[in-house]
Amino acid sequence: VIRFDAVTKKFGDVTVLDALDFEVRKGEKVTIIGPSGSGKSTVLRILMTLEQIDGGVIHVAGKPLWHEARNGTLVPAGEEHLRMMRKEMGMVFQQFNLFPHMTVRRNITEAPMHVLGLSRAEAVARADEYLELVGLSDQADKFPSQLSGGQQQRVAIARALAMRPGIMLFDEPTSALDPELVGEVLNVIQRLAGEHDLTMLLVTHEMAFARQISDRVCFFDKGRIVEQGPPEQIMSAPREARTQAFLSGCL
Ligand code: ATP
Ligand code: MG
Repeated sequence: VIRFDAVTKKFGDVTVLDALDFEVRKGEKVTIIGPSGSGKSTVLRILMTLEQIDGGVIHVAGKPLWHEARNGTLVPAGEEHLRMMRKEMGMVFQQFNLFPHMTVRRNITEAPMHVLGLSRAEAVARADEYLELVGLSDQADKFPSQLSGGQQQRVAIARALAMRPGIMLFDEPTSALDPELVGEVLNVIQRLAGEHDLTMLLVTHEMAFARQISDRVCFFDKGRIVEQGPPEQIMSAPREARTQAFLSGCL
């Protein structure tokens, strides 16, 4: 459902993704691990069309994310096309990125109303459904600043889910949290991982968690996939020296 073919991304003269080939099948739960600066967040940001690419082709749900001109250069896709592509995907960031001036419920109803055209009543019903799923039904009328980090992150997850995306992207969703709040967020993500049809792409440093929920783990280094496979293999018996060094904490 996601496919990168020889995707290159540069910032100035630094090559962040180096002719990356990468594929995620529908319903697959894939974890990306790797050292800081290896391009993990960039992969997710590119998918959300928050960054452009410098070469290669990306398909999401069978459609090209960016248009390619006949001479092989990328042409910015129209707003309409980008909106359509973004609807396929929900993203949860390390910093929860909630709208601070809106209540929890308003944070969740905003996009379904304005992007999907739901009525207020429909959007509220949907918001309450997802707040229940993340265990926050009693916090709907609060503002983000009145919640703990773990609660805010669960609201961010509910907000992404309320768009009913086929693909959920998580970028280190627990790394900004106090240790005692990590578990409540991982529990919610774990429950989502049980949904057969939902495709999940997760960047995390929570190795035990990645091992539990992933169908496949990809180890990134310097903008390339060094090694990938089932979690037991990558985490217990990595073949590559770089992966071994990373997992033993040397990178
Ligand atoms: P981390 O584990 O620290 O989050 P990461 O694997 O997510 O790292 P990226 O955020 O994808 O890494 O960044 C990859 C490289 O691209 C880094 O060297 C980073 O400095 C660079 N980079 C990312 N965003 C920008 C930007 N907007 N402008 C310039 N350089 C950038
Ligand atoms: Mg990152």
